[in-house]
Amino acid sequence: RKKVFKISTGSKQFDSILGGGFQSSSISEVYGEFRCGKTQLSHTMSVIAQLPKEMGGGEGKVAYIDTEGTFRPERIAQIAERYGLDAQSTQENISYARALNSEHQLELLNTLSKEFAGGQYRLLVIDSIMNCFRVDFSGRGELAERQQKLNQFLIRLSHLAEEFNVCVLMTNQVQSDPGASSLFAGADGRKPVGGHVLAHASTTRVLLRKGRGDERVAKIQDSPDCPEREATYVITNGGIND
Ligand code: ADP
Ligand code: MG
Repeated sequence: RKKVFKISTGSKQFDSILGGGFQSSSISEVYGEFRCGKTQLSHTMSVIAQLPKEMGGGEGKVAYIDTEGTFRPERIAQIAERYGLDAQSTQENISYARALNSEHQLELLNTLSKEFAGGQYRLLVIDSIMNCFRVDFSGRGELAERQQKLNQFLIRLSHLAEEFNVCVLMTNQVQSDPGASSLFAGADGRKPVGGHVLAHASTTRVLLRKGRGDERVAKIQDSPDCPEREATYVITNGGIND
């Protein structure tokens, strides 16, 4: 069996509530409202995943599925500089794909399973998991079909994570109706989209929210081995930090 490892978030406090970072061979989800740092975390971990294990990395390549068009190679270069990495090779180690729709998002997993077979990939980012599904199945009557397609995607995703010992980080949006009470409601009353299907697929779920001033707060919502603790972090030029 391949040895499981953890990839650092870039913030020591955030890492500490996760027991070191986000784990390989499993699916982790960070969700929260607009501008709380989901995309910045995705960029930061895409750099850190390439670092040596003793620096919180995974010593490997990264696959990045972008469904919102918010990936910025310039940010990768800035974060690489923080860690003393060469900007160009750091960018080249990230295999980027823009998912055009939910069908395409599923097809991308076929492409990735071929790429992952080489054994060099340690992180797969999906920013964000539900965007295409929400656009493609926006009608009331389409919810059941959406959840069925989503489930198909998540089953394949979880196989990929385990087969190739890859850390899967997916970001997720929250429902715009803060009043909705739910089993999955976060501390601020907001809940992630994707319903039970997504809730069951994520091994670790973390709520991100804005704190005081520039501070952001991460709170573990669901984890097999970590208590529900909070940590603060900030977003800097060099990515997520304390
Ligand atoms: P989300 O994906 O959750 O909507 P983002 O990850 O895009 O949010 O985070 C947006 C926040 O990151 C904004 O508040 C923005 O000011 C901040 N940010 C982006 N780039 C930088 C940077 N280079 N230095 C500091 N903060 C930044
Ligand atoms: Mg974003």
